[in-house]
Amino acid sequence: MALIVQKYGGTSVGTIERIKAVADRVVDTAKNGDQVVVVVSAMSGETDKLIGLAQKISASPNEREMDMLLSSGERVTSALTAMAVEALGYRARSMTGRQAGIITDTVHTKARIERISGERIRKALHEGYVVVIAGFQGVTEGETDVTTLGRGGSDLSAVAVAAAINADICEIYTDVDGVYTTDPNIVPEARKLRKISYEEMLELASLGAKVLQTRSVEFAMKYNVPVVVRSSFNNNPGTLVVQEEKDMENVVVSGVAYDKNQAKITIVDVPDKPGIAAKLFDVIASSNIVVDMIVQNVSSDGKSADISFTVPKTDSKRAVEVTGKIAAELGAKRVDLREDISKVSIVGVGMRTHSGVASKMFQTLASHGINIVMISTSEIKVSCVIDLKFTELAVRVLHAAFGLAEAAGV
Ligand code: ASP
Ligand code: MG
Repeated sequence: MALIVQKYGGTSVGTIERIKAVADRVVDTAKNGDQVVVVVSAMSGETDKLIGLAQKISASPNEREMDMLLSSGERVTSALTAMAVEALGYRARSMTGRQAGIITDTVHTKARIERISGERIRKALHEGYVVVIAGFQGVTEGETDVTTLGRGGSDLSAVAVAAAINADICEIYTDVDGVYTTDPNIVPEARKLRKISYEEMLELASLGAKVLQTRSVEFAMKYNVPVVVRSSFNNNPGTLVVQEEKDMENVVVSGVAYDKNQAKITIVDVPDKPGIAAKLFDVIASSNIVVDMIVQNVSSDGKSADISFTVPKTDSKRAVEVTGKIAAELGAKRVDLREDISKVSIVGVGMRTHSGVASKMFQTLASHGINIVMISTSEIKVSCVIDLKFTELAVRVLHAAFGLAEAAGV
């Protein structure tokens, strides 16, 4: 008998028919003799709709009230899913985040899970219930306030519950078959990966491959929760996300990712002296803007520098404002903004043991006339900022250059 957590995303519970299909799958699992904990998202579009309603009242609604509002979407699907399971003759019990014992910090709309008591979940399982938990939500210590975990947070709920009850596996059901070598909308011959390491998945998720929320992957890695990403619309096996295994290093590049939500800000001609970067990025960080790449060029006379960095496009206006103020204080010449850029990245644990991967990427882009604006690397990733209009071309040629359509996979 296995203990299985199954998470169903918004499209998988998007209609009553879909909820009934989820119940069928849950019951099939239970029939096998396995214990099942289900975690559900809100019906697709529901969270956006609720955000829209709030914004009709205020441009910056109270965040505590936002959490009360947004958590309702998952509450609806958890109850409906439990009813659908019961309609098939099985016992099911829905739980809110609070009832499931998911305790978070007090940061409304992006709370972090501090602990999960899991007692009530275990008890209900023991009594023979299928437990259906409303994803994306928790409660602060002392059960004072409802919190939500940030967009896509039901993935995190599922992984965290799986860790807390020591589940054998956490299955994430979505509307795609698994994790692909790249976006199949751009490269039709993109291949589904059978297996991928946490670290690679983490890079891909943070690079904008939307199949798993980044924080859920961090959590799975930390607590070594095996995760499967698969479709709720068919019975294909999906992609297993697990600890790195020896044979994974044979594959140099596992995936090509891209992110169009990037903007580049450059402060031109700042004095080249100690403390400038520290001041600049301190101000940006305290405005809660996440900086990704940073490049500094010092002029040949060594007196001044240009500092460029990238931020999410959605934060670019605010970042320019903040940077403009500090630039004036620092005596910089001006601040430039470019929004017509994107970031294309190759990811693979095999890069640790193979050389020449970055140069092959640069050559491939060069031979297609794609200019590289910025470069950054990590042990298992090379990212290039390029012109936005070349994004699809870059993804296609890199996917081909690294033979991702043909690779045997691991
Ligand atoms: N419903 C929430 C969202 O749309 C959480 C989730 O679906 O994972 O972000
Ligand atoms: Mg999701």
